[in-house]
Amino acid sequence: MTDFTAPLRPFVGQAAANALAAQLGIATVGALLRHYPRRYAERGKLTDLSKLELGEHVTVLARVQSASERYMLARKGKVAEVVITSGGRTLTLTFFNARGIVRRLKVGTVGLFAGKVTEFRGNLQLTHPAMILFGGDQEDSDIDEVDEFAGSLLPIYSATTKLPSWKIARCVRQVLDMMDEPEDPVPMEILAERGLPGLGQALRGIHLPDRDLDWRCARERLVWDEALAVQLALSRRRLAARRRPAPACPPVPGGLSDAFDARLPFTLTKGQREVGEVITRDLAGNHPMNRLVQGDVGAGKTVVALRAMLRVVDAGRQAAMLAPTEVLAAQHARTLRELLGPLGRAGELDGAQSATRVCLLTGSLGAKARKQALLDVVSGAVGIVVGTHALIQDRVEFADLGLVVVDEQHRFGVEQRDALRGRDGERTPHLLVMTATPIPRTVAMTVYGDLEVSALRELPAGRSPVATTVVPVGEKPAWLQRAWNRLREEVAKGHQAFVVCPRIGGDVGGAAADEDVPAESGQPDDDRRPPLGVLDVAPMLAEGPLAGLRLGVLHGKLPADDKDAVMRAFTVGELDVLVATTVIEVGVDVPNATAIVIMDADRFGLSALHQLRGRVGRGGVAGVCLLVTEAPAGTSTRERLDAVAATTDGFELARRDLELRREGDVLGATQSGRRSGLRLLSLLRDEQTITDAREVAWRLVAGDPALRLHPGLAAMVADIVDAGRAEFLEKT
Ligand code: ADP
Ligand code: MG
Repeated sequence: MTDFTAPLRPFVGQAAANALAAQLGIATVGALLRHYPRRYAERGKLTDLSKLELGEHVTVLARVQSASERYMLARKGKVAEVVITSGGRTLTLTFFNARGIVRRLKVGTVGLFAGKVTEFRGNLQLTHPAMILFGGDQEDSDIDEVDEFAGSLLPIYSATTKLPSWKIARCVRQVLDMMDEPEDPVPMEILAERGLPGLGQALRGIHLPDRDLDWRCARERLVWDEALAVQLALSRRRLAARRRPAPACPPVPGGLSDAFDARLPFTLTKGQREVGEVITRDLAGNHPMNRLVQGDVGAGKTVVALRAMLRVVDAGRQAAMLAPTEVLAAQHARTLRELLGPLGRAGELDGAQSATRVCLLTGSLGAKARKQALLDVVSGAVGIVVGTHALIQDRVEFADLGLVVVDEQHRFGVEQRDALRGRDGERTPHLLVMTATPIPRTVAMTVYGDLEVSALRELPAGRSPVATTVVPVGEKPAWLQRAWNRLREEVAKGHQAFVVCPRIGGDVGGAAADEDVPAESGQPDDDRRPPLGVLDVAPMLAEGPLAGLRLGVLHGKLPADDKDAVMRAFTVGELDVLVATTVIEVGVDVPNATAIVIMDADRFGLSALHQLRGRVGRGGVAGVCLLVTEAPAGTSTRERLDAVAATTDGFELARRDLELRREGDVLGATQSGRRSGLRLLSLLRDEQTITDAREVAWRLVAGDPALRLHPGLAAMVADIVDAGRAEFLEKT
């Protein structure tokens, strides 16, 4: 039985083993066999150059006759033309901007070139052919290789210049040839039910397919393995979490919670009511709730959270609410106090009989205030604690923590929320996670697989949609002035507005340094001008198009007191326009704000744009969102913005976002090529597989949490969870 953790050495030569380790970090049989081909070059038979036909897929064995490179006239960059010859005939290979190609294809080099025959100015050519070179640099190869490849699908691996694809293919072949049939970790019945091939067959199929069907079948099986491993890991997590004891918080008739409902100024939506009932049931239990509530921007999640917290306070325990930024934490504390009214003013003159207290705990609290706050928390005088990460990082002692609410989950990792929950020694507080990022079902099942998911589907009545318009300043420079005029109109009507920029600007470093700017904005991967900064735009507006209006500036680098003061001034209407970074992206709730202008909108991700526009139209008045961009029409960048303008459906946008971003990012595999346990699984494409695997995983784990009966599966899970490969579990 060949062990997948076995070193490569007896299977491949020392030089190859060294190269695999050095170039790709591949050291074991398993790692090599899991290095799947990126694609397959379809190859015809070895072709006589005189018989090439236009449009045909061909593979030719030929010798390089000449190679030259020149700058193109019509476009940017260089084109390399390599003429290959065989039997007196020639064929041109064309490469655009392919660095080092002329150096690699030295005159006299023999190689296999595979591609589709096209015509250019009367000459047949192959553009960017797949190739295997013999001789020249690759002296250790020999011409016999040709037989092995001719007529089959040519697997193309991610490779490096020092370790070309065909060398990897050869190593894989050697391992597959010498290896015993591997033991299949997945029980036979499961495979049989789904008509999936065994592991050995799948590995051969994906690396050495004869036909397309071979690798397709193989892929299906291997994708299933990945989905199963992920779901097993999550199921175990979920099961373990469920079994922990938790502080039960049964409803208390006539308590704070009921009093609160009685004084609510609005009727709860159906969703708010239903989710509330589910949460009430969860909280009453002896095992911890692990619930994710997703609801689009403005769906009214705060009230849902507050009602849950009041249940806990009624039971004589405390609730903690975590927000991703200080601005948001401060706002939450304010909102909660407002919503509670006298019910939140225990100990004050007008406090209600059964009242509790809300306390704000952030990193920037003064030493004295902080000490008092901590005392109030540990003594139990405070029922609801609102805070930022500081809550987690410093050792805050609670008298009796019953519930942790995490707002805007996408800014928190599992680790962080667990850090707070882990505190309470034996008992695990209940957990309520709230996110406005609409999560496609598969992502929810994968990234948040250990949580139960509820959704708030409708928005509270009386919401007016936000009209979104792209302002293409490249083509229509006059539109920018119109945008500012539009904003002035809103202010003239007594409303307020946001202007958002991707950077802080001024002297305060680049985007990367801004804690409140999402990674997807201001990527340094291009030669565009630096993104606009708040500190540069605000004075321009003040002196120019927005002269005379009351402008405020808000960004993550401001001292907390200033942030708070600005936010408060804006909330109470002392400012007309807030020029801000994405620090306002999540949760900021100022119903009188009706317009938002997003500068350099193309520098933001779709979800961020959707979140940002959710800052307006929160009162009864229709909102307007203007996406200012220099991106030219017809580019994919513009398409993204058009997509945001075209739909207000957060779910649809999240799906688009997932398609546009590399999915790997969602699953934690990095673009740098660092290997994660997941290679094939796609959250979009493999939705059915993931659903299926989730059911199977739950069944397997429920009866056998440690997977003792299935050591192979246990190893598969370990492989996924191991060595930082569980990033997708930790990072959300
Ligand atoms: P989000 O889900 O984005 O966090 P919020 O909780 O901030 O949304 O709610 C947005 C606004 O809607 C708040 O001003 C809140 O008071 C109000 N709201 C919440 N629920 C309702 C409701 N059922 N009817 C009317 N307004 C509501
Ligand atoms: Mg919110």
